[in-house]
Amino acid sequence: MSTASTSDSPPPPAIRTPDEAIDALMQGNRRFIENAAVPHDHPAARERTTTGQSPFAAVIRCADSRVAPEIVFDRTIGELFVCGVAGNLPTPEIIASLEYSVGILKSPLVVVMGHSGCGAVHAAIEHEDDVTALPGGLPDLVTHILPATAASRGAEDRLSTAIEINVRNGVRRILDDSPLISEAVDAGRCKVVGGVYDLASGRFTLVE
Ligand SMILES: [Zn+2]
Repeated sequence: MSTASTSDSPPPPAIRTPDEAIDALMQGNRRFIENAAVPHDHPAARERTTTGQSPFAAVIRCADSRVAPEIVFDRTIGELFVCGVAGNLPTPEIIASLEYSVGILKSPLVVVMGHSGCGAVHAAIEHEDDVTALPGGLPDLVTHILPATAASRGAEDRLSTAIEINVRNGVRRILDDSPLISEAVDAGRCKVVGGVYDLASGRFTLVE
C-alpha cells in the first residue's frame, strides 16, 4: 500500500502544545455530547499510523466499560495513548507507560480521567475501615484510593468529592514520582491535568 493519502479526508490537525491538546479534547467532548462527532476515516488513520504514532495526549482512564476516551473525546486511531486501571490510579507501570508517551512519543498532555459513579472509589469508601474484606487483589488496589476517601469525610456528596480528590492525588503523584514528566512540565513541553467524566451527561470537566 502507498503511504500517500488516498482519501479526501483532511490531514489530522496539528496538535503540538499542551493547550492545543486540551482544546482538542474539550472540543471533541462537546461534539460527543451534542451527538455531532466528525465522520472519522478510521481506515485512513490506521494506514497513516501503521509505521509510527504521535498521540497528542496520554490518558489514565478507569477500566470501567462506560469510560471510553476515543469515543467521548471524538478521536481516531493514533491520537490518544490510553492506559486503563480501575480507579484511574498512576501505579508504577501506568507511570512508566505515561513516560513512554511523553518521553519517547513527545505527547504534550497527560490526563487523569476520573468518572462519576466510580465503583473502585465507592468500594474504597464502603470498606475504608477494612479493605481486606474485598475479594482477590482488590484490597491492594483500593488501598491507593484511601487517601481520597479519608479527605472526603464529612462531604455532602462523599462519592463525588472522593472521586475528584482521587483525580487530584493522581495528578500530584505523577508529578512527584516521575522526574521525566515533571521536567517536561517545567520546560513547558507538557501539562498534566485531571478531570471527571459524567456518565449521565457525557461531559468531561477539568478539575483545578
Ligand atoms: Zn471507575
